[in-house]
Amino acid sequence: MSNVRVCVRFRPLSHKERKANGDKVCFKKLDAESLVFKDERDEDVIFSFDKVFYDDAEQSDVYKFLAVPIVTDAVNGINGTIITYGQTGAGKTYSMEGPSILHCNEQKTGLVQRVVNDLFECLRTSASMATWTVNLSMVEIYLEKVRDLLDLSKDNLQIKESKSQGIYISGATEISIMNSSDALERLSEGIANRAVGETQMNLASSRSHCLYIFSVQHTSTPDERVRAGKIILVDLAGSEKVEKTGAEGRVLDEAKTINKSLSALGNVINALTTGKSNHVPYRDSKLTRILQDSLGGSSRASLLCCCSPSALNSPESLSTLRFGTRTKLI
Ligand code: ADP
Ligand code: MG
Repeated sequence: MSNVRVCVRFRPLSHKERKANGDKVCFKKLDAESLVFKDERDEDVIFSFDKVFYDDAEQSDVYKFLAVPIVTDAVNGINGTIITYGQTGAGKTYSMEGPSILHCNEQKTGLVQRVVNDLFECLRTSASMATWTVNLSMVEIYLEKVRDLLDLSKDNLQIKESKSQGIYISGATEISIMNSSDALERLSEGIANRAVGETQMNLASSRSHCLYIFSVQHTSTPDERVRAGKIILVDLAGSEKVEKTGAEGRVLDEAKTINKSLSALGNVINALTTGKSNHVPYRDSKLTRILQDSLGGSSRASLLCCCSPSALNSPESLSTLRFGTRTKLI
């Protein structure tokens, strides 16, 4: 059994999409694992995944399927990754953070808040003699540079590896957090910092990858060895193609580096799920390098491919579905 789950989520049609194109959707629902999509030659293609979430899916359904095993394993020292992929506007950030990281009702809260809540719940209820720490880091990868979102003065962090720590981002701010409201407060600061940095540099958040990193150290009894696990949540840069004609300068550089890191991610997951390649190309991008010890081996990973349901966006949704199937043939 592979430790990688690949799922698809179609968000509800937006008002804008309804206005422009009515209720016309780009797919036909088959069942909870598969759907039919018309390709560019207007032929029906069946796509299958570990799960397909349609517009009636609740945030809690997505969380249960993609994240619960990752949280329970992290407490036992196993690393995990949860990634959202898709074109800008497809629902990546909504799936991760809900409408707002701090202020939203229980029903709408995203993966990040649910991970944090359950993580502390698991730790609190683990054993009477248990001791634990949780550290939070938050970084952004833009044009292959790693920026610290908890300290904007650190804008070019290096990725390193050691026997004791595994892969780590050298010098990244690590905040020790004691409970979930503490964690969410700090995360919202990171999100606000991201917006500040973007305004200063005139960037769009859709052009960078955002990583929320939780490191857990846990012992159930005082003389037991420390179990260290990591959970990394990744809100990827938008996967949309930029117009080849007209794009120049920074826009073109952005498109190229995003494209490169997304295909590196696809190649790494593919190498892991097919087991065909004994060389997993982690070093092809900063993103895959950071995820190296949270994707392979015994670690668990979930990829959520987010799609707009509207026929208007059908070329981009098709490309997202293809990315999902390339990473894992089920
Ligand atoms: P992305 O991060 O992929 O660019 P967003 O998550 O910002 O996209 O989503 C775009 C818009 O669609 C937002 O206004 C968001 O609130 C809305 N949206 C996305 N997914 C859902 C969903 N499952 N249910 C309701 N609204 C959603
Ligand atoms: Mg987003």
